[in-house]
Amino acid sequence: MENLMRLIPPIHELMEDPTVLDLQKQLNMSNSMIKSSLQEATTYIRNQIRDQQATFEDSGDIKQVIMSRAEHTLLDYLKPNLMPVINGTGTVLHTNLGRARLAESAIEQMVKVAKQYSTLEYDVESGKRGSRNKIVEQYIKDVTGAEAAIVVNNNAASVYMVLSAFSKGHEAIVSRGELVEIGGSFRISSIMEESGTRLREIGTTNKTHLYDFQQAINEETNMIMKVHTSNFHMIGFTQSVPRHDLVSLAHDHHLIYYEDLGSGMIYDLSQHGIGHEPLVKDVIESGADLVSFSGDKLLGGPQVGIIAGKKKWIDQLKKHQLARVLRVDKMTYAALEETLKLLIQEKHQSIPTIRDILVSQDELKSRVQAFMQRVPHYIKSSLVTDETKLISKVGGGTLPEIELPSYGIRMSSQAISAEKISEQLRRMDPVIIVRVEQNDVIMDFRTISQEEEDLVLNHLIELSNSF
Ligand SMILES: *Cc1c(COP(=O)(O)O)cnc(C)c1O
Repeated sequence: MENLMRLIPPIHELMEDPTVLDLQKQLNMSNSMIKSSLQEATTYIRNQIRDQQATFEDSGDIKQVIMSRAEHTLLDYLKPNLMPVINGTGTVLHTNLGRARLAESAIEQMVKVAKQYSTLEYDVESGKRGSRNKIVEQYIKDVTGAEAAIVVNNNAASVYMVLSAFSKGHEAIVSRGELVEIGGSFRISSIMEESGTRLREIGTTNKTHLYDFQQAINEETNMIMKVHTSNFHMIGFTQSVPRHDLVSLAHDHHLIYYEDLGSGMIYDLSQHGIGHEPLVKDVIESGADLVSFSGDKLLGGPQVGIIAGKKKWIDQLKKHQLARVLRVDKMTYAALEETLKLLIQEKHQSIPTIRDILVSQDELKSRVQAFMQRVPHYIKSSLVTDETKLISKVGGGTLPEIELPSYGIRMSSQAISAEKISEQLRRMDPVIIVRVEQNDVIMDFRTISQEEEDLVLNHLIELSNSF
């Protein structure tokens, strides 16, 4: 062991090795980065020797291993941490995988405004300062029927802003059955507290009556808030108060009626028999003062929060200090504007989120069958692959009760476990994320685009060659 330790070359010697110098030149990285990668590799080798894991013959051998480990570390460091993946889970709005995929036109416009200067806050006509609030407001008004709108960083920010601006130091009444946790520890009750609003919980978890609201109103009250329970579905002995009655009650007492819609459905999925989400337009029409929803859920756009409603209130939000804190950047505006235009032009099939929710099991089945024709026979024996019916989910905390009949492939192997297959697929470039059920790997084609199929096929070939 001592002898082996002595064979480890000193760092200064490694730094001058032609291979290392070449690598440094090629990667254009500083001395200190090169040095620390070599130090890390050297420490690793030292530990290997100490633990008697190492089988080195001579110093040349050790040097080789150190340099190749250092190179690996450096290349890994330069790889993007935020990288595209192929989503084989079938969950269309996968929060951990970035929620909505954007439409082509949205992407093109994003690239343009990123590359060039833009009219983000510039009025071309007057040649003077303009407002970013004007970029998409008209389109939001058109798709929601609201008088005015403002865009903020995400929908959690919408809730925070509305409550801070209008209910700070006052009481807002919310049904106990609607105090939802959205995930990632976002709780409506915590946001309310954070905003300085006093939360007045009423009713029970499963039932809230109009008289509960009536009795809770006092001189401190200034808002009735309804939260759309988008990520769970309550069944059985339940009751909530119809929106219409709550709006009337709020307005009779000069209170603001605010509804946090979460998923924000603009394109009506219920016409295809998918769910009973309230349409933003209907909520506005029923007299809500303010509504808020996410841009990257059922809208199929970038991460934003949209607050729409009565001009009187939105004007106050536009002037609020938080408008600056929560404002949205130009690339986001570009993507949002194009997504809204597609909705206005009824080109919802060009919005990947909506297209992927609507694609039928039959369509997916023929894609999967065509794909299976291309899978070489030798793969089918080492990696047992079969087409299969599946159920996919919308995800992103929306339409939790909806099961979308889907289609995909099921794989298993005698040689390695499903978990191991899934792990290998995560190591490939691009990464494929799959579902593991029992001892099968499941790939749902709902969330795999046609352009991604070649990559998937190549990965399967590579995978089966590895065992
Ligand atoms: C998703 C959701 C939020 C949070 O929206 P983000 O855009 O993720 O910040 C808030 N309220 C409801 C009801 C939601 O469904």
